[in-house]
Amino acid sequence: MRDDLDALAGPRRLGPPARFGHVVMPTPRSCPICIAAEFIDVERVIASTHTLDIVVCTGCGLVYVNPMLTNAEKDAVCPAVRQLHRSRAFEKTDDSALAHAQRRLQRCIDLITPHVRAGAEVLEIGSGDGAMLRFLKDIGARPTGIDIDAASAASMREAIGVPILAGAFEDIEFHGKKFDAVVLVHLIEHFFEPVAMLRRIRDLLKPGGWVFVETPNIMRPKVGPRRVFSLAHNYHFSPRTLALAFHKAGFACTALREFRRDSIQIVAHAAADAALPLPMVEPWQEVIAAIKRYQRRYLTTGQFIWRKLPWFKERLMYQPRRMLSGMQLRDWLVNPRIRFKPDGAPALVRAQLAS
Ligand SMILES: [Zn+2]
Repeated sequence: MRDDLDALAGPRRLGPPARFGHVVMPTPRSCPICIAAEFIDVERVIASTHTLDIVVCTGCGLVYVNPMLTNAEKDAVCPAVRQLHRSRAFEKTDDSALAHAQRRLQRCIDLITPHVRAGAEVLEIGSGDGAMLRFLKDIGARPTGIDIDAASAASMREAIGVPILAGAFEDIEFHGKKFDAVVLVHLIEHFFEPVAMLRRIRDLLKPGGWVFVETPNIMRPKVGPRRVFSLAHNYHFSPRTLALAFHKAGFACTALREFRRDSIQIVAHAAADAALPLPMVEPWQEVIAAIKRYQRRYLTTGQFIWRKLPWFKERLMYQPRRMLSGMQLRDWLVNPRIRFKPDGAPALVRAQLAS
């Protein structure tokens, strides 16, 4: 799915990244996670007819598009970006598409399965090709899907025999319905307000409920430098900024896995505020250094070749780089190098594009 989106958006670098280190004020939008109002330009790309400024928040290290186009604005600029949320498997039924979906699924289910009990009601937001819904149904859970594309939702509903709601998560009414778990695979980076959406997910959970999120890792990208930033993605999380978003939404992270390339995965449980460890922020200098390092190394290490070869992919890309849980994860979250100071954050600047 992402490959299609990237090809369409076709971001281009505007010359060398000479604007590294240049502090930009005023702010079109303050950081949606830590509400710090100061950010630093990371990259400028052209996506469709628009120029996107990618920035890093100096408060927490979050990389995000600023100013950010709302979904309605994206639809007006380039309707295909959102239509392309339709999964490949909807149109392609060949073995390679199925194998691709299966490998993606495998990388999620070993983290998810220990938390799923028989009869658990699990909501998958962005259910796409239905691979996750099928798996959940097979292990005895009761899954429900949400797909932004009505045609895809109808087709998968019939094929799998589970309820799939059509529409954007932001717009769907649940009428008091609660779930044991919510799963989002490569979706949170598309939200306009990820913390607000995580809070909404928290409200949908039964007591003891949990959420699983997988999203690309900006510290260790998979695709080439020209395709990392696109009109499709509003956010580029790192392990720490993703953990921070969960913290702000009232979740305690219980497992975090980072692969050598591509993605981060987090399992988090709804928690009382007092029980939450205070996560450390991602120093923005390290985020910029990681992006520059990756831009240099992508070509010199031949990543553009081995990222497409199955043997290398499995051994070089999808080997876990870090898997943290329990006390280890707790310690990592509160590493004292830099502390997260919610009270020290500058005042919220009203978003220009938020209305
Ligand atoms: Zn921030």
